[in-house]
Amino acid sequence: MWDLAAQLVERERAGLYRRLRPLAPRGTVALSADGRRLNVFCSNDYLGLAQDPRVVTAFQRAAADGVGSGGAHLITGHRGEHEALEAELADFLGRDRALLFSTGYMANVGVIHALLGKTDVVYEDSLNHASLLDGARICGARRVRYAHADTADLRARLQPPAEGRQLIVTDGLFSMDGDVAPLPALARIAADSGAWLMVDDAHGIGVLGATGAGSLEAAGLGQDDVPVLVGTLGKAFGTFGAFVAGSETLIEYLIQKARTFVYTTASPPALAAASRASLELVRGEPWRREHLRRLIARFRRGVEQLGLPLMDSATPIQPLLVGEAQATLDISRALEQDGFLVTAIRPPTVPRGTARLRITLSAGHSERQVDDLLEALARLAPRWPAREDTVAAPAAATADLP
Ligand SMILES: *Cc1c(COP(=O)(O)O)cnc(C)c1O
Repeated sequence: MWDLAAQLVERERAGLYRRLRPLAPRGTVALSADGRRLNVFCSNDYLGLAQDPRVVTAFQRAAADGVGSGGAHLITGHRGEHEALEAELADFLGRDRALLFSTGYMANVGVIHALLGKTDVVYEDSLNHASLLDGARICGARRVRYAHADTADLRARLQPPAEGRQLIVTDGLFSMDGDVAPLPALARIAADSGAWLMVDDAHGIGVLGATGAGSLEAAGLGQDDVPVLVGTLGKAFGTFGAFVAGSETLIEYLIQKARTFVYTTASPPALAAASRASLELVRGEPWRREHLRRLIARFRRGVEQLGLPLMDSATPIQPLLVGEAQATLDISRALEQDGFLVTAIRPPTVPRGTARLRITLSAGHSERQVDDLLEALARLAPRWPAREDTVAAPAAATADLP
């Protein structure tokens, strides 16, 4: 029964074992524990802000006033820095109001649980982030998964409850595939069926849209089309934390009802100060998004020439499918020998048979770094499994997702 060790052995044998490793990053280059310099191509620091001196200084200055918030937001933990960040995020996103959560995981679980109960139905894209799936599980609503980005499948699966709410939930920019959800079509389905649409734009905010406001800005959708928007600060913002943005009523409701907001310590105010500095750079330095777009185009051109299996992504997430977990691990290790850190992404994070190198680009990368990565990939291209074995149709393979 308590055969944990045996399970670990089994996991190792299947090429699915995961290991922690300490890194010392300097921008997009990191020193590994054994002192080797690695070009990092798998971080979510898409705009290169995590080590920006202005963000670091804001954090340090505010931390001089103390680190811990000392309590939950509703007791003693809520500070001026939190309040100001919430107002600035709402303004940036064109929404009434925003509410901070400690992490994106907690925001997603808390919001879905607060909004839905036993008599309700939640529809989820089959490639949604684990936290969105867990929120649906915990809230007790009927759960319906639809094929990835397949709005016809969603329409066919609609089953309005006799009385109760319907919530359609999707990632904005999918974290492991790099594609964007069919947001206008989803908004139409929501409007037609009296459902609400919730978008988790953890990877889109800061990166997509004319001003970096994310996948909803790029799709031209507002608060009326998408009442619930979740964003995280640990990715393009380069800091930590998350928020929900929506109507005044939604936010007041969440303050009463979201258990992952109410029953947890407010994050350190210095983090909010750092995120405010970061938001200023997200808004004020559009060259970061422009540089990133150029790097994406450069990388895709190069990979196309190599004949490697690019996915259909116009975003900083540029996964290269390999297929089997062990083969993916082997290529990842070979890349590391060449000085590039690209973690192998394996099941259950992605469906079985679709293990991949999740390459991510950042505004912190130089063109030279991208060219060097392409050269390393060229050396490794012969080791890629034949094309027919690699690309399992992702939508068909999602049955074994957690
Ligand atoms: C990273 C991520 C989260 C979780 O956010 P954290 O702040 O890291 O907990 C939620 N949803 C998506 C799509 C993510 O990529």
